[in-house]
Amino acid sequence: MITTTIQETGITMSRHFGPLHPDAQLKTLFSVDMEIQAIELVTIEVSWVVTDDGYLQLVHRVMDWPDTPHIVAQERLNDLPEVTQALQLWGVYVRGTKGFYRITRFCHPGVAQKEDYEQVLQGLEAEARADQEFWEQHPLYQKLKSAGIHAISVSGSKRVLMVKCPRGNHHMYIEADKATWTCGYCCKRGEVNALMQS
Ligand SMILES: [Zn+2]
Repeated sequence: MITTTIQETGITMSRHFGPLHPDAQLKTLFSVDMEIQAIELVTIEVSWVVTDDGYLQLVHRVMDWPDTPHIVAQERLNDLPEVTQALQLWGVYVRGTKGFYRITRFCHPGVAQKEDYEQVLQGLEAEARADQEFWEQHPLYQKLKSAGIHAISVSGSKRVLMVKCPRGNHHMYIEADKATWTCGYCCKRGEVNALMQS
């Protein structure tokens, strides 16, 4: 995954934020189980921290890993209560990492309860259903489907689909309007038509 800034919302998601400040006052939302690339299951403690310069940063700590807490997303503080903003940002993170990570289970409450967690996930599911309805009508999606290629909608996007890369156990993206694919993992790109012939 590369650093992504969503222009409209100003949310930045990355694996490459610097380390957390040692004095950072973490507030824990909750902990959840998360599946990584359908391979490994880990328990994640989800927290947030507010920086001196007015950002809310979402922080993950992988339990049982020699991994200090790390920042996974951030956006400017808004007028919402911090816990609400942190939950919303977590929803954006879960949506944006679909295909790489999958939340499988609620473990322990923190400042947020299981109901808050479920509300975020229900919102994402409703969004995913709306996306699915959109894509089912899209000619490129239909073409992929009849070629036996399973495409997943990237939530909230009416332009991008995600498919399994034919070269390995990872995902790549299809830009539907241009009918092109890009694999960040393989550093390759090409035409969707060629993909369906292979
Ligand atoms: Zn690839």
